[in-house]
Amino acid sequence: MEKMQVLTDSFGRKIDYMRISITDRCNLRCIYCMPEEIPLLPPEEILTYDEIISVCQAAVCLGIRKFKITGGEPLVRTGCPELIGRLYTVSGAEQVTLTTNGVLLGKYLDALLENGLKAVNISLDTLNADLYRQMTRFGELSTVFENIERAVKSGLRVKINSVLQKGVNDKEWEALAGLAKDNRIDVRFIEMMPVGHGRKYAAVKGEELLNSLRDRYSCIEKDSSKHGNGPADYYRIPGFAGSIGFISAVHEKFCDSCNRIRMTAKGEIKPCLCYSDSIDMKEVLRSAGSEDIRIERAVEAIREAVDRKPRMHCFERRENISEKRQMVLIGG
Ligand code: SAM
Ligand code: SF4
Repeated sequence: MEKMQVLTDSFGRKIDYMRISITDRCNLRCIYCMPEEIPLLPPEEILTYDEIISVCQAAVCLGIRKFKITGGEPLVRTGCPELIGRLYTVSGAEQVTLTTNGVLLGKYLDALLENGLKAVNISLDTLNADLYRQMTRFGELSTVFENIERAVKSGLRVKINSVLQKGVNDKEWEALAGLAKDNRIDVRFIEMMPVGHGRKYAAVKGEELLNSLRDRYSCIEKDSSKHGNGPADYYRIPGFAGSIGFISAVHEKFCDSCNRIRMTAKGEIKPCLCYSDSIDMKEVLRSAGSEDIRIERAVEAIREAVDRKPRMHCFERRENISEKRQMVLIGG
């Protein structure tokens, strides 16, 4: 039997997960993620699907087997479901999942299922239609809600990702957590990170939220079963079909268990979300003469990015955060 490669960084962390942004475009403008007006990349600056496949082939050679497709909004790029199908044909790729705002999920659900998608993360920060419109600048909550219901019915594993902001949607936790009651949906609360416009908003601490949940549901208990690739801590409320997760990126550092690298739509491989350091994969791919050389150089570039992973982020010392771009350009 062929031996599976294991990729580790200089701190001994196993790196087996890669987030791949396929577009800088979005059909919403969430206030903390994307400004109303932002210069868009010219199409030739964005990696083609063939180039993304080459990067994944290289990643798999090193031991990265799980991929998350993100954006911008990945479903606005034509052919996203088919890309997922192609990624599944890369030998060694074990899991391909998607993170979306859910607006186009209904339209592409059948195509996504046909292409092998098994799990989806849907970003939703409120169940109040007016607040949703305000926070996304023009989104229609009813469309997203219908699409969540359809996704759940289709058998996809659904996780809801919610980012709470003090004074904006911090009262929404109870309604959002309620989504996990009757459906096998995990609802995860992600702390606002001081990246891009996220710097302007005060994060609700995961710990504060857990205390509110404990006040409301005294029987809430730790859930130690595995729920995916992320750093979330999960809790169960008896009687709820899904679990409640906390990704406390800022207030509880989980860097010791970091398992990932990221690639932006223009092919920058980022060792860490917090810093601007990146390796230009587009240049690596486009300067190689043949497919074999392309993969060989891509392997070297990914290896280098992993070697450059820092020990930890510095979200608590804002002056040291060197990543200055909006999250929409990074992919979350
Ligand atoms: N459009 C897709 C979506 O909304 O899921 C994928 C891209 S979006 C950048 C990925 C995730 O990043 C979303 O769940 C969003 O809420 C989250 N995000 C954006 N800015 C953030 C910030 N400053 N802190 C924490 N999460 C953020
Ligand atoms: Fe678009 Fe997702 Fe950012 Fe909202 S969070 S603006 S949906 S990329």
